[in-house]
Amino acid sequence: MKALPGAPHIHWRAADLFIEGVSADALAAAHGTPLYVYSRRSMLEALAGYQRALAGRRHLVCYAMKANSTLAVLQTFARAGCGFDIVALGELERVLAAGGDAAKVVFSGVGKRPDEMRRALEVGVKCFNVESEAELATLSGMAMSMARRAPVSLRVNPDVDARTHPYISTGLKGNKFGIAHDQALAAYRMAARLPGLDVVGIDCHIGSQITEIGPYLDALDRLLDLIEALEGEGIAIPHLDLGGGLGITYTDETPPDAELLVRQLLARIDARGHGHRELLFEPGRSLVGNAGILITEVLVTKRGSEKNFCIVDAAMNDLMRPAMYGATMAIVPCALRDGEPELWDVVGPVCESGDWLGRDRALVVEPGDRLAVLSAGAYAMSMASNYNSRPRAAEVMVDGERAVLIRERENIAELFAREHLVD
Ligand SMILES: *Cc1c(COP(=O)(O)O)cnc(C)c1O
Repeated sequence: MKALPGAPHIHWRAADLFIEGVSADALAAAHGTPLYVYSRRSMLEALAGYQRALAGRRHLVCYAMKANSTLAVLQTFARAGCGFDIVALGELERVLAAGGDAAKVVFSGVGKRPDEMRRALEVGVKCFNVESEAELATLSGMAMSMARRAPVSLRVNPDVDARTHPYISTGLKGNKFGIAHDQALAAYRMAARLPGLDVVGIDCHIGSQITEIGPYLDALDRLLDLIEALEGEGIAIPHLDLGGGLGITYTDETPPDAELLVRQLLARIDARGHGHRELLFEPGRSLVGNAGILITEVLVTKRGSEKNFCIVDAAMNDLMRPAMYGATMAIVPCALRDGEPELWDVVGPVCESGDWLGRDRALVVEPGDRLAVLSAGAYAMSMASNYNSRPRAAEVMVDGERAVLIRERENIAELFAREHLVD
């Protein structure tokens, strides 16, 4: 049994790809393609890394559910004790529908609508991660009108370079996220004065797919400096939320594992005398990314003078990361064939040149074969769209020998069920 990069439970048994104890080809035959398949054990083991490092401390791991918000995924993490990091009302309702606890929810996001704030106050979320002074004022007013107080943390932009893709780097000065470090004191003074708010913490989130520990330590130091300044002024900051962002292995990346990262952060926190604080993390990708694959069937192969195209039935609407970020994701056959590999561009049927899943991949393929895009558990199904009126894929969760259909494939009638013709 040979495991694939970053994914101990996705492996070869002889020539066949397996997710835990279940064959990828058998799942595709039963449920059709494109099909997302997740290993439950991989998700729980990824979480266990954070939990081991944080054992014995007051802490909360809030799964950043925008990475994959399917109910059964949320249920898996809720049962394992997780809270959730949400960025929209729909995500809050999903947490509740999956049996999650509102009191373990942190509500992030650079723009929250009043109805979203109201609902979050009504169900009693743990904290609002606030990103502007204007939002502090609105939230305070809303809480007062409901005769409640809103627990708040300010998302501080520590101005550190996470050294990742510009679209997923969020902790630098020039970007839309957070409150600039040098304005944070003033914003906290305002929060402390507003009658509808309780200051409960501080947070940051410096980016995504981060593969080094250094940027986290830099951000931590800047947050601890601020906490010390705030507490010097009598504004208590009970919890410290270091966000998410830890990277995974797509091909040859070598991110630290979560346990190592958290242990190093804890060492710094303790060394600076902040070990008593409640600690929050908001991991998304690192909990689910390597746990999922996308299975797709080869429709046609086209050999050209410059390029060979392998046209598959999954497309950019199913998996946006290559088109959106130029992301490289490993692609393997579900059943290995003998033969001399050729170089293929693996592309979908959508009418956009950006519709590709992988470029110059050495594969032995024939029409009718199935391929699996690896590390497709995060920012994959949750970003899927209906572009080209393509129904969204089905999803299966594997747990040992058991496979459960956790989301049915969308049908075409559903795609236009809410549309109206004009007279
Ligand atoms: C997206 C996001 C996360 C999760 O990021 P990952 O890279 O998936 O770990 C955490 N916190 C906030 C505020 C986010 O926007």
